[in-house]
Parts: sequence; C-alpha cells; structure tokens
Amino acid sequence: MSKPLKLCVFCGQPKKMTSEHVWGEWTKRYVARTANKHNHANVFVPRPGQPEPPNVRIRAGDHLDAQVRIVCSDCNSGWLSQIQNDAKAALIPLFEGKPVVLDQAAQLAVATWITMATMTGEYLSQDDGRIAVPQSDRTWLMENRTPPAGWSIWIGHYPRQANPTQWVKASFPIVDADQLPNNLTEELLLPTMQTTAFSVGSLFAFAMSCHFPEIPRGWDWRTAPTARSLLRPIWPTSPTATDWPSLALSDNDAESFSAAAVRYFEDFAKRKGF
Ligand SMILES: [Zn+2]
Repeated sequence: MSKPLKLCVFCGQPKKMTSEHVWGEWTKRYVARTANKHNHANVFVPRPGQPEPPNVRIRAGDHLDAQVRIVCSDCNSGWLSQIQNDAKAALIPLFEGKPVVLDQAAQLAVATWITMATMTGEYLSQDDGRIAVPQSDRTWLMENRTPPAGWSIWIGHYPRQANPTQWVKASFPIVDADQLPNNLTEELLLPTMQTTAFSVGSLFAFAMSCHFPEIPRGWDWRTAPTARSLLRPIWPTSPTATDWPSLALSDNDAESFSAAAVRYFEDFAKRKGF
C-alpha cells in the first residue's frame, strides 16, 4: 500500500509537499545566521492550573533556517511567497533596527507575514494534537491575505538578543467560562488558544489567537505591563503611523512577554479553583 498523501495545511489538497522556510529563505540576506543551535520552547497548559513543564528542545542550527513540510508547492510558490514579497520592504528596516515609519499598509504587510510564520511555525512542534489555530483561520489567510479578525499582533525592537529561546509557542485549552462543564473531557482539553513569540534580527513579534476572539482582542498585558509601552500593536492596524525603532526590549522583557499569557491563564485557573 502506498503512503497516503499528506494534505496541505492551507488549501487542504493532497499535492506534492515542499519544505517551507517558516521565516523565509530571503531573510538570510538581511539577518546573519549566527546560532549553531537554538532553543525552541513549546508550552502546553493541558489543564488549567496544571501546566506541563515547557518542552524546551535544543535544535541544531539557527531557528531562522527552520523548515516544515506541510505546505504544497502551489501554495508555497504562489500566495505564500507573495506574502513574503509584500512584507519585505517593511520588514528589512525592522530586522536591521533602522528608522522607518510604519503606515497602515506596512502594519498590515508585517502582521500578515507574522500570521503566516505563526501558522506554519505551529508545525515545528511536530505534534498535530497541539495545533491551536483552526483550519478556518488558515483558510482565511489563504483567501484574504490578512490576519483573521480575531487575532492580535504586536511588534517590538529587540536589538541585543542574548536570550537563547528565539521561538516560544504556548497553547491552551480555553473553555467558555459561561458554560464550564463539570468534567473536562478530552475534547475540551484540545488547545483553542495560542501565543507565539519569535525574533528575527532586531524584530520581536508576538501573535495571539483564540477560538474566542474576545480574548486576544481584550488582552491588556496585565502580567507584563511594560509591554504596553514597549510593544506596538500592528493588528488590528492603526490609521496612525508608527515611528520605528521604538524603545528597545531587554532580554528580560522578551522572556517575560513571551510567557505573559501563560502566567495570566495559570493564575486565572487557580483563582477559579481548577
Ligand atoms: Zn496548498
């Protein structure tokens, strides 16, 4: 029996899969690959209040060279490569930490690129049961080339980057607080929310999405309030142009922001008595 064809995670077609660079091979020209190994943190909170220990793996090579084989060649060389091209002009000064004014179009291009990297980066963990972004969000990106409406995305200027963990994904099973069941079933423990933090050159990116869009929309960084001044929201976009670079993040800031939502939902679950 031949192996069943894999389905492309975007178009759903059983086509030839290609290796996709999560962050784009073109970034090589602008961001030196210096790490010969990197940490890759995948945090899953299986039951509110009972976080699993973060699954930190040391992987070979620089995280910016990471590839996943989940996208068909048509999507990869078509609309995904168009998203890379559309974002290049705005991304290069962010990678290099150079002055730039991010108008609404630039915010949109960068936010769309971060959404793409977040969606494909989810498969770096090679654990399909922990994919928190629903198919409808990937279909939305393919059809509209914008982040889904319920996502929230921030960027920061992080020039030094001694923090060894350059990619942190956290996923959680968030259940509807108004309809909390007595027993948490397996299905309820599937992740429905994710936060992803990564850095490329001097750019720090943070994306939050949830099956309940009011959660990312209302996220106010209460467990890391300095993020309110250090990070700039770019999705939803703002009609006001943003000057760049903003104040620099320290290693502590980057680490704290990456785990801020995890801390909040753990505390919340404990207060609710889970
Ligand atoms: Zn495809």
